[in-house]
Amino acid sequence: MQNIVVTGKSGAGKQPRIDVLVSEFGLSQLSTGNIFRHYLGVFKSLGHERSPESYWDAAADGFVPDAAIRAALEPACAAKGIPVDDAVLGLKAARFVDAGLFVPDSITNALFEGAFQKHGGRGLILDGYPRTADQARFLLDAVSRAGTRLDAVLIVDNEDELIVGRTIGRRICPKCQKVFHLEFKPPKDGRLCTACDAEVIHRSDDTEEKIRTRLAEFQKKTLPAIGVLTGEGIPQVRVPGNLPVFTDEIVRASVMEALAPVLK
Ligand code: AMP
Repeated sequence: MQNIVVTGKSGAGKQPRIDVLVSEFGLSQLSTGNIFRHYLGVFKSLGHERSPESYWDAAADGFVPDAAIRAALEPACAAKGIPVDDAVLGLKAARFVDAGLFVPDSITNALFEGAFQKHGGRGLILDGYPRTADQARFLLDAVSRAGTRLDAVLIVDNEDELIVGRTIGRRICPKCQKVFHLEFKPPKDGRLCTACDAEVIHRSDDTEEKIRTRLAEFQKKTLPAIGVLTGEGIPQVRVPGNLPVFTDEIVRASVMEALAPVLK
């Protein structure tokens, strides 16, 4: 297995399937959502008083020039020893991620390409990328430039209403990314990661309104992205996100069974 795309609605249950792929095939997870959250954290650590929205030029339908954003963030970055480019990226990502909207393709593709190249374009589980038809075409190009391939698109299916319920209670470990649910898979003492003891967080975009925005984004933009990949002959396999009994072994079996025809 060289590379596999794992896709599905946000909150469908991708992470347990990704964990199976990591342990079965020794692949590494490349998650654009995690990359964005890293930069968001960098920006938020500055305690900057202005909102990301205030750097948006509605008439131009884009951010004010980078030089203006850099100038505003530079003093705090210098004081804290933070690279100003990372903070600028975090500020830009925050405007979209916090609203449950997709980050524009130009920002996402550039960020993805850097991470993809760092791994030599192989051995990756692409999580949350591509999410638009433009990103899918960019990915096909990046794969062909790297001389590697995409082996499959694994789609995790789930119902909107189940996702809304599960996502509101979701908590994430900011250190190791382990996912919990307040009711179904509670963190230790209701707040600590069972793997590394860090205090779990409630993602800023895990509110009902923002989840529904993300679900609409999936229908409008991500389904066409999957279409671009399957149009190129990349095999598509589906697994149910919701299993009547949810154990590590049942999840593993469900993923391996779905992939069997591709692995032959
Ligand atoms: P995720 O953790 O994959 O649900 O991603 C969290 C948020 O990051 C999304 O709601 C988007 O705001 C942003 N994001 C992650 N991946 C992408 C992508 N491929 N394209 C655009 N925005 C993305």
